[in-house]
Amino acid sequence: MAGDNRTSLDRRRFLTGAVTGMVATTVPTPAHGQDRDDDRYHQVVPSDPALRVKALESLLVEKGLVDRAALDALVDTYEHKVGPRNGARVVARAWVDPAYKVRLLDNGTAAIGELGYSGDQGADIRVVENTPTVHNIIVCTLCSCYPWPVLGLPPVWYKSAPYRSRAVIDPRGVLREFGTELAEDVEVRVWDSTAEERYLVLPERPAGTASLNEEALAAMVTRDSMIGVAKVAPPAGGGA
Ligand code: FE
Repeated sequence: MAGDNRTSLDRRRFLTGAVTGMVATTVPTPAHGQDRDDDRYHQVVPSDPALRVKALESLLVEKGLVDRAALDALVDTYEHKVGPRNGARVVARAWVDPAYKVRLLDNGTAAIGELGYSGDQGADIRVVENTPTVHNIIVCTLCSCYPWPVLGLPPVWYKSAPYRSRAVIDPRGVLREFGTELAEDVEVRVWDSTAEERYLVLPERPAGTASLNEEALAAMVTRDSMIGVAKVAPPAGGGA
């Protein structure tokens, strides 16, 4: 911790041209008792990533760069107000409106914006269509890039190292584990999301849904089908 304080002060000294000797005398050195308190604190923190996030948040708040209430509001928005239902409405609209589907595949971000969905982590969304001969699956091999405005926050497995690597190395095997069996002649396309471009899968409209309206169709569309690890299941009983 003392090292961090020194680094911070050194940077400030570099920027302001302050006198070196003055800075050296103002570096606080924590007492040993304080170190022991820190050790106890570390032991009750659930995980290293959680600790890092908390430390980063505390630092940003302390520096006045973010407001804790604003952070809470942001997390609440993406946890409870924005989620896969937005994407499901986009998919259902594309299923019932051929002209909208053309626009969606041509410029995903703009067509998604037509329904009022935009914002963080959604500046450039490309929509890829599943067909009887092509199946698309989304991953972010580097980290966890994901189209927040239409799918909300990514599931834990999407961010896991096994999914990120195996979706590329063995996509059919991953799909099988999600219960999605594809015929050998179906081409599998894996899309690697980046901070610049994120993807949304437009799943196939299942058979037996001709009589369903847009709202009922949207209710059938799952998050996993829009990531591409699953298909949209036909309605129970076969539908009309
Ligand atoms: Fe990423």
